[in-house]
Amino acid sequence: MSSVVRIERVSREYQLGDQTVRALNDITLAIEPGVFLAISGPSGSGKTTLLNLIGCIDHPSSGDIYINEDNVSHKSANELADLRARSIGFIFQTFNLLPVLSAAENVEYPLLRRKDLTAADRQRRVDYFLNIVGLSSYANNRPNQLSGGQRQRVAIARALAVKPAIVLADEPTANLDKATGIDILRLMKKINEHLGTTFIFSTHDQKVIDHANRLIKIEDGAIKAFGIRRPKSNWQMVRAPSPAARPAAHHS
Ligand code: ADP
Ligand code: MG
Repeated sequence: MSSVVRIERVSREYQLGDQTVRALNDITLAIEPGVFLAISGPSGSGKTTLLNLIGCIDHPSSGDIYINEDNVSHKSANELADLRARSIGFIFQTFNLLPVLSAAENVEYPLLRRKDLTAADRQRRVDYFLNIVGLSSYANNRPNQLSGGQRQRVAIARALAVKPAIVLADEPTANLDKATGIDILRLMKKINEHLGTTFIFSTHDQKVIDHANRLIKIEDGAIKAFGIRRPKSNWQMVRAPSPAARPAAHHS
């Protein structure tokens, strides 16, 4: 089966004054379509950096990233914006809704870039996805007229509205109380099962991890282990080889 995301020997370094921070160190992984994947690791381990690379909102310092087997590493900013507008939905820890827009307008927002959709097409999608997240009767509410859980539901509808192959969620439950966080996870899982959308989310909460069926554990910018879980069974974990144990990089 082909991968929806493939990452080959990716590193990402940040320059902080005269210091180099290695946020990701030689990451290699492949993600199958349709999985509900958790990326877990302590604060500062590189989760956000990895999601930003998969989401094509950041470039690797070295290595290659493939989305649907298309190498995105050398694409222009404009090509990447088009790819995001068709293939990738984002959900953030702090919801990131536009405060002056209603729930419906927030969901519509990423569709405005899509010149192939008419206003009526956009309206249909907004209605459809607000209904999926259970917020049809809140369409005209602004974010400050919604609870945290409802705001994150709007963000989920906004992510789904582009009908993406992949939804990326960076600690989507971190700003929610436990019960609401679990509700949001269940909703994401239901959408994953019914629409087949691949979900990739980061978390450091074991309760959240246990809703996933794939797991990548990262520490200090490196993958420590991969996990797979079949329905009604426990995690089967495989330790990742350390970068030093792998063959040397090909030079291109
Ligand atoms: P996580 O999301 O797991 O908390 P991050 O991906 O945000 O981790 O950060 C990984 C490492 O990279 C941290 O050491 C962080 O300080 C550093 N880092 C992240 N973004 C930047 C940046 N823009 N400039 C400098 N260092 C950064
Ligand atoms: Mg983070």
